[in-house]
Amino acid sequence: MVKCPQCDTEVKQPEKTWQLISPLPDAEGRVTITVMGTFKCPNCGYRWRTKVSTLKVGPSGEVEIGSKRKRKRRKASEEKVEGKVIEVDISDILEEEL
Ligand SMILES: [Zn+2]
Repeated sequence: MVKCPQCDTEVKQPEKTWQLISPLPDAEGRVTITVMGTFKCPNCGYRWRTKVSTLKVGPSGEVEIGSKRKRKRRKASEEKVEGKVIEVDISDILEEEL
């Protein structure tokens, strides 16, 4: 919730929003997207700009919004890993025992 810095009235909807994408990823390889907004106070008419939210998008598709972390499941990890087929030739073992 954003409040007017002049009269403390709550402004629910921004007039306009846009995103600022950080050109460099952070230490974890995540790109930071800052959502900015223009707000206009319905009470006193004051107009200002402020940060609405921050998103962090990781290299494997995980998205962090503010302090809440949402993990997107990667399709790759859901793929079945096929079990190794170990073929044993019984005749080899039998020959060794003899
Ligand atoms: Zn105001």
